[in-house]
Amino acid sequence: MPRYDFRCRSCGATFELRRPMSQAGDPAVCPQGHEDTVKLLSTVAVTGAATAAPQAPSGGGGCCGGGCCS
Ligand SMILES: [Zn+2]
Repeated sequence: MPRYDFRCRSCGATFELRRPMSQAGDPAVCPQGHEDTVKLLSTVAVTGAATAAPQAPSGGGGCCGGGCCS
């Protein structure tokens, strides 16, 4: 089950919850009982972004690559 990190905007605490992906967007309540929380980037998402290396532009994609557009 994926783990999600949250931060409470009321007291500043960070905490993590394990929940099904189907409930990933559900609001989370801080351990102190505050409901004003935001979901942080999950470890899964960060790893995925790092794996997806940026692709170099290939070619020039039409006439803009040759400078005739400017
Ligand atoms: Zn809190």
